[in-house]
Amino acid sequence: MKYFSTRDKSRKLFSLSDAAFMGLAPDGGLFLPERIPQVDMKRVEALAEQSYADMALYLAQQIFDDVDAELLERVVRDAYDFPIEMRCLNNKLHTLELFHGPTHAFKDFGARFMGRMTGVLNDGGELVILTATSGDTGSAVAHGFYGVKGVRVVILYPDGKVSPLQEAQMTTLGGNIHPLKVRGNFDDCQRMVKSMFRDEALRTEVRITSANSINLLRWLPQSFYYFYGYCMWKRMTGRDNPEVVVPSGNYGNLTAGMFARRMGLPIRGFVAASNANDVVPEFLQTQLYRPRASVQTVANAMDVGDPSNFERMMQLCGEDVSALRFEVRGFSCSDEEIKQAIAEIYNKYGYLSDPHSAVGYLATKQMDVDGFWLSTAHAAKFGEVVEPSAGVAPELPVSLAEAVMKERNFVNIDAQEEQLSAFLREM
Ligand SMILES: *Cc1c(COP(=O)(O)O)cnc(C)c1O
Repeated sequence: MKYFSTRDKSRKLFSLSDAAFMGLAPDGGLFLPERIPQVDMKRVEALAEQSYADMALYLAQQIFDDVDAELLERVVRDAYDFPIEMRCLNNKLHTLELFHGPTHAFKDFGARFMGRMTGVLNDGGELVILTATSGDTGSAVAHGFYGVKGVRVVILYPDGKVSPLQEAQMTTLGGNIHPLKVRGNFDDCQRMVKSMFRDEALRTEVRITSANSINLLRWLPQSFYYFYGYCMWKRMTGRDNPEVVVPSGNYGNLTAGMFARRMGLPIRGFVAASNANDVVPEFLQTQLYRPRASVQTVANAMDVGDPSNFERMMQLCGEDVSALRFEVRGFSCSDEEIKQAIAEIYNKYGYLSDPHSAVGYLATKQMDVDGFWLSTAHAAKFGEVVEPSAGVAPELPVSLAEAVMKERNFVNIDAQEEQLSAFLREM
């Protein structure tokens, strides 16, 4: 399998390792596979009954057909050693819980696969994964790459702007994980990282790559859990052809679902469920794409005003807006509605939902969806929103409680490019 850029009409092809280590294509576009493998759904359903890893391995083999079979199997089994569950609140309300991984957010599904695959594709030599985070991405990437040979991870996060829980998840691993606490905000962190990628001199000395959601190796494996969710929902309800509600920000998750559908997964379509950052739902309604600065909400991992994966979305539907509107419905809601939803789910079903997943619940209910929503984070990760809304504190999963107790290790730096490049050179 080779890969091409969304911006390249001539479709110049790149190998998996080139596409993975570049992250973004040289023309600024996003990589997509040259062809979409068609899967045998009977086989998928049988494998899903066995285990998530068995099913994911079959799907990974269809895409990554030029990776050594034994290595691929090791990557998949090692990445997916945690549970995934379909929860039924009533006959019309089902949610696929994607938050039982080590960092308790769905980003573990992409980050763990990417971490292990990067280790396999790396042909020797030190590789530095450089990433800026406002919280969730940093912890998933740190855990995803923890202990991967030949790879070091440098994570920039803004001082005082990430939750204590998120900071604990990034700074208590040690080993090949190097957290940098930046005296500045998230935009400073992002600016510093971008300037390292433009620094040709530095790049000849240190091999750096990124691990954000545009990276193919993080994006593609996110298509696998749609298959699993479909199988579980079908078995539990006896119905077929579900619609899937996806709490969305940068739209990596939803576009991975679109890819799964094109691999032959029989789902009706998707609901793009957003908070007040509603560029995509607005686009679906008006056909005008108006990227803008994000606004802060209680579902902050979805605070994106110009989603990177919009290009993949358009490419996957052949740049045809009416085809996209046929496949994806839009939904957005306010902070007030999110908090009310958290209270309602708890009061009616005794179920605690984090603010991002609550957007999925709301969309499912208000748009009369026959299908399921994706739950993207554990309620305990967002206790400061969940507790006042539901009136009870979500119980911390053991791994989170342990991380909070551990010693934190990080390096303080100013929001200056020179300090970051010096750190990378000396590391
Ligand atoms: C990252 C994230 C999202 C948004 O996912 P996208 O792929 O960026 O659309 C939703 N919920 C949680 C908890 C997240 O961490």
